[in-house]
Amino acid sequence: MKGKSKPPWITWRRLSQVLFLLLFFILFIKTDYNGTDEIPYAVNILFRIDPLVAAAAMLAAKAVIAILLPALIVVALTLLLGRAFCGWLCPMGALIDFCRRWIRPRANQPRPGLRRIKYVLLALVLTGAFFGLPVVGYFDPFSILVRGFATSVYPAANGAVTEFFTVTYKSAPAWVNAVTEPLYALLKATILPFKQKLFTLSLLSLAMLLAVFALEKLERRFFCRNLCPLGALLALNSWFSLMRGRAADTRCGDCRLCERICRMNAIDGEKRISPEACILCMECVDRCPQEKIAFGFDRPAPKPAFAGMPRRTFVAALVSGAVLPAFLKTRTIAAVPPPELVRPPGALPEPEFLGRCVRCAECMQVCIGNALHPAFLEAGMEGVFTPRLMARVGYCEYNCTLCGQVCTTGAIRPLPLAEKQKTVIGLAIIDKNTCLPFAKGVPCIVCEEHCPTPDKAIKFRMATVLNERGESVRVKQPYVIDRLCIGCGICETRCPVAGRSAIVVTSAGESRHPEIGGGY
Ligand code: SF4
Ligand code: SF4
Repeated sequence: MKGKSKPPWITWRRLSQVLFLLLFFILFIKTDYNGTDEIPYAVNILFRIDPLVAAAAMLAAKAVIAILLPALIVVALTLLLGRAFCGWLCPMGALIDFCRRWIRPRANQPRPGLRRIKYVLLALVLTGAFFGLPVVGYFDPFSILVRGFATSVYPAANGAVTEFFTVTYKSAPAWVNAVTEPLYALLKATILPFKQKLFTLSLLSLAMLLAVFALEKLERRFFCRNLCPLGALLALNSWFSLMRGRAADTRCGDCRLCERICRMNAIDGEKRISPEACILCMECVDRCPQEKIAFGFDRPAPKPAFAGMPRRTFVAALVSGAVLPAFLKTRTIAAVPPPELVRPPGALPEPEFLGRCVRCAECMQVCIGNALHPAFLEAGMEGVFTPRLMARVGYCEYNCTLCGQVCTTGAIRPLPLAEKQKTVIGLAIIDKNTCLPFAKGVPCIVCEEHCPTPDKAIKFRMATVLNERGESVRVKQPYVIDRLCIGCGICETRCPVAGRSAIVVTSAGESRHPEIGGGY
């Protein structure tokens, strides 16, 4: 029998999940360019309250990063209430819960051995961050979520919606267009992105996101129970939390409903509720027919969270995080960064940049020109998903500083516009084998026309060459003034030569390296 006096915890929890999910989507949409060069909202707040990101970034930087200190609020909340963050606030957890009706687990059998994986990942993430193996962006739930949406789901949704309205515009009768056109205008003004973007590795980002949901087939909240290193960090804190649940009477009968319905398998046969696993979803309180389960403030539990984990496994993770970075330094890439790896303006020197970047893709989403893309192996295995300029696809807009404004961890410094316009991210190099005035004697001044630097980094020399018909012609041949070029890439984007551009931006001369002039 259900007591009428029970507080409506489930309703409150669902409401909280809906509100935080809405907040997540609103901030996500507000990260897109909206016509102004300032972002007035803390669109990256989700990452700033993420204790895992804060811990990893600070261990990598070996310094306190002020913008990540709000993460202490979540730590304090966990010390007070346990893993309530996972049950009430986390947008990944909320999405998993809301998708449950479509992904029914085959069974909700506990697999206690798998729970240890998240502690192993946590150990790897934190020791790796300290010693120079930055992997937090591959496992942090918000990185997986935002990256998947920014580089895959959102562009795909925009493509589908735009396609639909294009078809109705071209083929539907006027009365249909009288409805669809204003609707399309409304969507464009509110939730659709400023422009259709395309990204490298979009399917990989999508696959990682979908995997989190596909794992629900094995057991409920599989990712949260077994894999999430943020969940592991909160679970460690939750052993010291004051709020905890318990059954008032373990001789309550044999229904074992609470054990079966618990999405985290937090309740054992003795009706003990593990603070490490419990996310305070309140399902057991709500559904217990005898109203035996209650939550209240109590003394912390005496047992550490990873007590059941073989010490060897835990030590192996710690050692891996400490030893593997030494091998990263044995590669040629460590001495000679690949020339095609052009970082955004304001990016910290490479090792610090890799350590701080959490691969959230916010900079890629906000980039007006669709210039920033997730790197694959250009920056090594530890640099997958970090932002790089792909100037053939898009260029770094001269008057834009948005990527530094949204960067979650300060991996890209926010630059005042005047400083950004002088920041060298690379150098353009002309390929005389394909450049039209050199290779074919065809007049072309596109790169010079688009160069945004006040004194034009591209100049011309007059030359006499043979054209394709063997005639002698006088043409202007471009050349680059190294000290004026900032590597924005617009010349590469606009070059009319088909396929590979005849002018290519490389990372040569980037000002973030003090040893080659400039530096921060
Ligand atoms: S375990 Fe991780 S993904 Fe799941 S709710 Fe907690 S923080 Fe979010
Ligand atoms: S550099 Fe880009 S991907 Fe990396 S943390 Fe900053 S905003 Fe996120």
